[in-house]
Amino acid sequence: MTRRLVIVGNGMAAVRLVEQLVALDTDWDVTVLGDEPHPPYNRILLSAVLEGTHRVDAITLRSAQWYADAGVTLRTGARVLDVDTERSEVMLVDGERIGYDRLVLATGSIPTLPPIRGLIQLDGSLHPDVHAFRSLADCLRLDAAVRDQNPQRAVVVGGGLLGLQVARALSIRGVATEIVEGADHLLSRQVDVAAGEVLTRDLKRLGTEVYTGARAIKLTPDGLRLDNGYTLATDLIVLTAGGRPSTALARRAGLEVRRGVVVDEHLASVTDPRIHALGDCAQFGDETTGFVGPAWDQAGVLARHLAGVSSTWPGARNVARLRATGLEVAVLGNPEQAEGEVVSVSNPIKGTHRKLVVRDGRLVAATLIGDLSRVGLITQLYDRGTRLGRTEPGDLLLPERRHAPAELPDDVEVCACAGVTAGAIRSCSGLDEVRSRTRATTGCGGCAPTVRQLLGVDSAVPVAAGT
Ligand SMILES: Cc1cc2nc3c(=O)[nH]c(=O)nc-3n(C[C@H](O)[C@H](O)[C@H](O)COP(=O)(O)OP(=O)(O)OC[C@H]3O[C@@H](n4cnc5c(N)ncnc54)[C@H](O)[C@@H]3O)c2cc1C
Repeated sequence: MTRRLVIVGNGMAAVRLVEQLVALDTDWDVTVLGDEPHPPYNRILLSAVLEGTHRVDAITLRSAQWYADAGVTLRTGARVLDVDTERSEVMLVDGERIGYDRLVLATGSIPTLPPIRGLIQLDGSLHPDVHAFRSLADCLRLDAAVRDQNPQRAVVVGGGLLGLQVARALSIRGVATEIVEGADHLLSRQVDVAAGEVLTRDLKRLGTEVYTGARAIKLTPDGLRLDNGYTLATDLIVLTAGGRPSTALARRAGLEVRRGVVVDEHLASVTDPRIHALGDCAQFGDETTGFVGPAWDQAGVLARHLAGVSSTWPGARNVARLRATGLEVAVLGNPEQAEGEVVSVSNPIKGTHRKLVVRDGRLVAATLIGDLSRVGLITQLYDRGTRLGRTEPGDLLLPERRHAPAELPDDVEVCACAGVTAGAIRSCSGLDEVRSRTRATTGCGGCAPTVRQLLGVDSAVPVAAGT
């Protein structure tokens, strides 16, 4: 008898899970229920849509036709309201019930609203000048505001990865943009003060002012008031002050939830083994992730598990790449908390900062800012836990001996999001095959220049996500 697999959420983790299940040719009858009205899209490239470098259709990851051809039922605009674990059914907003044998929660995360007075109007809606930036709908609303209202100034609240992306996109659109960050430096969750300062300097060079150690407290008719007494005059405000796993469904279903839905090594809820969770909404041990790399790795593990192939989740290999024009950032592991010896080189004038954390001769974390020419090699050493020679950590940072992509060894990882090596890229006949067979370039897109060079493709040919 066919077994019914229901996936709630149709974001980046869910689409990858379906791709993997299709590739494994399993006998699951798969239904995907996503509340957004469109087929899945590359969330990372929303800032590219805002910038104007990508059209909306170019960030679609899989079309409705692809699902139909694969025999997967895709329902968009279908919000799941509750899970009835007794009857093994999910309930949609309109009261429809859909039964499952296995359920996967891939509900992602939701933005947190910073405590700023005046953001919410009396009717409960966001002030018209205030924007979130999480979904395609948010992106299109902000895009329309930039196009139709011709704003001169914008303030981005939150100096994390997302804030940097949005600020870059708005400045590229010609809006004078300022970033307000409560911590004492940018990307404070990922990098150290020196790296944050390099980024601040880079942003200033690119025309974006940065206020760190300052919190926005009130939206007034004069602008956004900060707790240091300043008021920033502004025409629009974008909130990028972090998010948290979307766990309301799991909580109501009685599953164990701490920060995320608590899962075991099979990504199954520790409360109900017939319910899995992956991506931003899941928590394994003490760890929630929040990046596409681990979400896609989890999708591979869960697909193999559901296909009956032995597969367990070892914990995240957190590799985060920032997609923002003019800023190069990669963070491996947790450089701020990892214990070990630190080798670092910072050149604020050039806008580069590289830091490796080495424990027992192995790379356990790294920060690379301003120059990602070694990111493939460094990621490989990190992933494999390769024992480094005594001088190797220093050599990896200095001098800048660029590896021409044509010389990259076959086993060097080029795409950190999908874990694709230079050899796998070389074995493809062109960009289309790279996208469809390996999924390289369809995540953060940071590997696109290297992929083009490996294939000997003209850099004028756009590498867009999706098929
Ligand atoms: C603007 C932006 C830029 C980013 N940039 C980067 C980057 O540069 N690098 C990086 O590694 N990561 C980045 N991320 C993070 C990355 O996008 C996420 O880690 C990744 O999308 C996680 O995938 P997911 O499927 O778990 O969640 P999501 O992709 O968020 O998908 C979850 C989906 O579930 C839907 N859903 C939720 N509840 C329900 C329900 N009850 N019923 C039906 N559907 C539901 C949501 O609407 C959403 O469509 C970025 C995120 C954002 C928002």
